[in-house]
Amino acid sequence: MAVQKDIDYHISFGDARIIGGLSVHSAEFDATFYYDGDDLGCDYSEHRSRFRLWAPTASMAHLVLYDDWQTDSFVEMPMTRSEKGTWTITVYRDLKGSFYTFKVLIDRQWQEAVDPYARAVGVNGDRGAIIDLAETNPPNWGEYRLPFSSPVDAVIYEVHVRDLTIHPHSGAEHKGKFLGAAQVGTRGPGMIRTGLDHIKDLGITHIQFLPIYDYSTDSVDETKLHQPQYNWGYDPKNYNVPEGSYATDPYEPTTRIAELKTLIHTIHEQGMRVIMDVVYNHVYDAYRHLFMKLVPGYYFRYHHDLSLSNGSGCGNDVASERKMVRKFIVDSVVYWAREYKLDGFRFDLMGLHDIETMNEIRRRLDEIDPSIILLGEGWDIPTAMHRDMQAMQHHAYRMPRIAHFNDGLRDTLKGNTFNLREPGFASGRHGLEHDVKRGIIAGVQYQEHLRSFALEPVQCVNYVEAHDNHTLWDKLYLTSAHLDDMTRRKIHMLCSAIILTSQGIPFIHAGQEFMRTKHGDENSYKSSTEVNQLDWDRCAQFSKEVQYMRKLIALRKQHPAFRMPNADLIREHLVFEHAPANAVAFTLRNHANGDAAKDIYVVHHANWHPIEIHLPSFGLWRTVFGEEHLQTNELMLHGSVTILPYGSVVFINS
Ligand code: CA
Repeated sequence: MAVQKDIDYHISFGDARIIGGLSVHSAEFDATFYYDGDDLGCDYSEHRSRFRLWAPTASMAHLVLYDDWQTDSFVEMPMTRSEKGTWTITVYRDLKGSFYTFKVLIDRQWQEAVDPYARAVGVNGDRGAIIDLAETNPPNWGEYRLPFSSPVDAVIYEVHVRDLTIHPHSGAEHKGKFLGAAQVGTRGPGMIRTGLDHIKDLGITHIQFLPIYDYSTDSVDETKLHQPQYNWGYDPKNYNVPEGSYATDPYEPTTRIAELKTLIHTIHEQGMRVIMDVVYNHVYDAYRHLFMKLVPGYYFRYHHDLSLSNGSGCGNDVASERKMVRKFIVDSVVYWAREYKLDGFRFDLMGLHDIETMNEIRRRLDEIDPSIILLGEGWDIPTAMHRDMQAMQHHAYRMPRIAHFNDGLRDTLKGNTFNLREPGFASGRHGLEHDVKRGIIAGVQYQEHLRSFALEPVQCVNYVEAHDNHTLWDKLYLTSAHLDDMTRRKIHMLCSAIILTSQGIPFIHAGQEFMRTKHGDENSYKSSTEVNQLDWDRCAQFSKEVQYMRKLIALRKQHPAFRMPNADLIREHLVFEHAPANAVAFTLRNHANGDAAKDIYVVHHANWHPIEIHLPSFGLWRTVFGEEHLQTNELMLHGSVTILPYGSVVFINS
């Protein structure tokens, strides 16, 4: 407080980046104004509502109360300057059902903005809403959590809420909504199980939803849901509120909250868990975002010439390394974990965040439930922050229990994502065996020349496709147009088999099990429903391939040897075996990770011709997976066996 007395609250620069001689970007500003209380935002109770806003560069601040989400009539009440640049007011009446914003006077201009800590909003998120959160809980919500074992026991399935049920044959009642995704017992073409039932049947442990927080009106206008609109939602608007377009009523603030909780609760009841895709690295439009209105310049990263850093490619990077930004991100993740009982968080462009923020998130989530999974895109992206601070793959060793997407294996298997016609290991490119092995060992240090970014397998997410870029099927069309459809299916399944039999955390893109196509659309973030929807007709048509994925996941779950929780076990029990070119073979030996099978032998084969492999001499082998790729149908095998083109076979020696 003593420091603040000396501060001249006149703003020196028109862009409000200086207060009392302190730049909002300076360490001194953070030291002076860091507020570590847990009462930012609106604290509602029947008798009174308390508000606290952090806005150190404002010379005045007002609470604005509205009767509803749209009327112009309001009551404006001055807030009192409080500690560390915060402003407070308590209103002694029941405000439930009212809407609110804050107004701040900065550089002689009033700016009105939604509370960054708002937990409920009206349609399109332009006003905060005052609600009783307890009333949004589904029956039996309680204190219950669904703890999990090790992240390597997870099988993650990434899906967009709307894509899951919007197809005309999804069988869901509330198509495209949280409640549609929450429906069990839905049936599709040929009476196949669809939606949540389908995901459960696959054996998925964690469903990862593309953004479910409130995203920009420019992406989807919640007042025009009768018109065709689509967006992935990587355009954050209100970080602590669910998106309105997935609710049956985006106007009623409690509906989206209650319906998202219903979805999460239903998934938990089905024995699965939920990972939320969070996008704290940028906002939709920095200059229109509430961050910029409330504390201009503070929340974003700038170059020396005061232009906005743009590693995100979306026009701005959020400055996670500043103390009140870090606090905001940590508070937000903790809020979602507690209030919505989420089981994991996937950080978009995590490489733009600083390491300290990511580790602080890990620490705080551990206090709630250490089995909450953290994963992210640890890409090496240039941004206006010291490179040494970036939470990227290269620095994985400094974030021990945070996982990174393994783009190395992804591109090894199917070819470089950005070199469209380049094939990969599975589609017949030579010389990639070593890179496949790096993925199989989950990127840990194995031998001097065989290692990647991870210290431990829990840090490595293996995948071959995700919402970004071409689906595997579409990529195979680009790289392997000369092959017939059946061969492409085999190559596709080979890729999935490599992912599911590798160490680390396997990740599947929704529809991968039925060879999802977006008809060549490599960035469908705002493409049509037809491009993006999960096509349940195709799911029925590719039932054999869906069955293949089910068997793969079942195999992984049955054998702990595929899920070794630490790198020492991998180094001790995993041995790469001799194999012909364009094939990789390995054994998991001596009851690895407590496996009932004494030894497991896996071969992945990406040649267009049959190959002969020599089963390790110490065993008598039988197949437990991929027997259709064997030329022989003998039960017990030893010595040489012939394997048919493009496939994975798993043998055990019990
Ligand atoms: Ca929205």
